[in-house]
Amino acid sequence: MSKSWTQLRERIVLSAERALKRDGSIGRLELLRELGFLYWRHFDDWRKGVPQYTPIEPHINCGAEKLAEVYRVFAQWAEMKGLKTVEAEYSRRGVGSVTALQVTVDGNDERERFFRTHYASAELSPKKTERLQQKLTKAPDLVVFITVADDAKCSECGDEIERGEYLFLEQQQPLCVGCADLDHLVFLPAGDTAMTRRAKKHSPLSAVVVKFNRSRKRYERQGLLVSNEALAQAEDECIADADQRAARRKVAAVLRGELDQRLVEQMTAAILSEFPHCPPAEARQIAAHAAERGSGRVGRSAAGRELDPKAITLAVIAHIRHVHTNYDSLLMRGVDRQDAREQIRGTLDKVLDRWRGS
Ligand SMILES: [Zn+2]
Repeated sequence: MSKSWTQLRERIVLSAERALKRDGSIGRLELLRELGFLYWRHFDDWRKGVPQYTPIEPHINCGAEKLAEVYRVFAQWAEMKGLKTVEAEYSRRGVGSVTALQVTVDGNDERERFFRTHYASAELSPKKTERLQQKLTKAPDLVVFITVADDAKCSECGDEIERGEYLFLEQQQPLCVGCADLDHLVFLPAGDTAMTRRAKKHSPLSAVVVKFNRSRKRYERQGLLVSNEALAQAEDECIADADQRAARRKVAAVLRGELDQRLVEQMTAAILSEFPHCPPAEARQIAAHAAERGSGRVGRSAAGRELDPKAITLAVIAHIRHVHTNYDSLLMRGVDRQDAREQIRGTLDKVLDRWRGS
């Protein structure tokens, strides 16, 4: 046997040992990543649902013969160490759903199982094994992309998603934030870890915002989309225990955004004329939110700018759904969007009627 094959075997065992020690478990994809035959970046993008890397198997950079050797030595090593198997599917979080991620091109059951089988110490207690399985199966955060292409279109409403606007991928199809039901969330830029952690904890629905960096050829985290209320609560907590003025400045800057004040005033008035019993502060909040620049919300669309009653009503409905019903928690729990809308319809109609004064 040639020297290079002996070296490869040593590398396989060393890599497997290292990953097992660090992560508490190891599967084939993790091993390939450790060996450099699968780029971390591609693996991460696959978990985010980037279509280019779905499924992931074709992105393994290793010849067939070598790959067979990797799998053979790995299996031998796992058996020799007496490791136990833990089956854990790779998953991805969508709005209102968690979907399994396919590894192989043809989705063959047996081969999919081959990849979702992880190995862990045989001494792991049943309780720890269960926890490990939960950890492995847990879907990563929702991901929203900042569009860098010029020709993106929402697959549901057909609206153009302009460069710089948010885009969400559902079953590898682009959705605008409006159709993805994420348009009520506000953007918190990355950088303040305490704010980020708290806002995420308090937000019934949250999403990580990433943007493709062309020169570095990778997606980079820009911040988090969270609910207004969660942001306010996080702010309160940060002010309570830390540098007060700095926190206030940061949140004020986020909320201020680049609001077009005149548009906000006009929209507030239009909302109140359509919904005379809507509390004025809420009308203003709806208007400010809908008018936020670059958000792809109704307020920025042509109809919104012209204060079309239909666009106004849509903005009010979105607000009621997210603020006056448990819609967001339903989505976060994995209830399908249409089902969630059906479940909250009664509450929504009641608030609409009340605000209309009928
Ligand atoms: Zn859309």
